[in-house]
Amino acid sequence: MVEPIFDYQFRLILIGDSTVGKSSLLKYFTDGKFSEVSDPTVGVDFFARLVQVQDGTRVKLQLWDTAGQERFRSITKSYYRNSVGALLVYDTTNHDSFERIPNWMEEARRHIAPFKPVFILVGCKSDLPESAVTSEEVNRLTVNCDIKSIITSAKTGDNVEEAFRLITEEIYAKLKLGEFRADDENWDGIKRGFNGSGSGGGPLLMGEQVSKCC
Ligand code: GDP
Ligand code: MG
Repeated sequence: MVEPIFDYQFRLILIGDSTVGKSSLLKYFTDGKFSEVSDPTVGVDFFARLVQVQDGTRVKLQLWDTAGQERFRSITKSYYRNSVGALLVYDTTNHDSFERIPNWMEEARRHIAPFKPVFILVGCKSDLPESAVTSEEVNRLTVNCDIKSIITSAKTGDNVEEAFRLITEEIYAKLKLGEFRADDENWDGIKRGFNGSGSGGGPLLMGEQVSKCC
């Protein structure tokens, strides 16, 4: 039997106002790099990386970026559909971007229904001194919405791994509990891994990193 390259594929999306740091977060996570100049119109709209959850299961994360559409509030339903998780991203130095998180969450919920995505709140740019969002505000939101949160920097790399690890472990735990199914014909949020016999997921892309997540 051919050893599977990965056991599951989870499709995740990053949402939040433009310039909060979504593309930078993805770039750091998949490439280990940061750029001060980030092109909002860059055509790449998905990334992938393999991670390993605590019990050794290999999960390929398929990570979708908005490719600048959020600037025009024109993100389509198809961007949301087939996602099992969403990173709700705000800029820690921009209070407005935090205030709009519930709107992003609601929009994701509406488009992904009847499936229930796992959310994680991600504050970006923690390397900058002028934080505009208090920890009390963050706590209130995370308690109200029952979601986890984390503060990251794509510049220093601080907590970038941890953010993706948190959401991956939570989705995997729900999969094991039977809250998600990996073989739903009408939904691609979670797929079983590619094992050399063409059973879904597709082969790994060039340049993907393989790392132990946790
Ligand atoms: P997006 O529109 O949400 O994809 O945001 P980008 O990733 O394009 O980032 C917008 C701007 O913020 C760019 O100039 C980035 O260099 C900058 N940026 C993103 N993440 C960080 C960070 O963690 N720290 C700092 N200092 N700047 C960041
Ligand atoms: Mg972007």
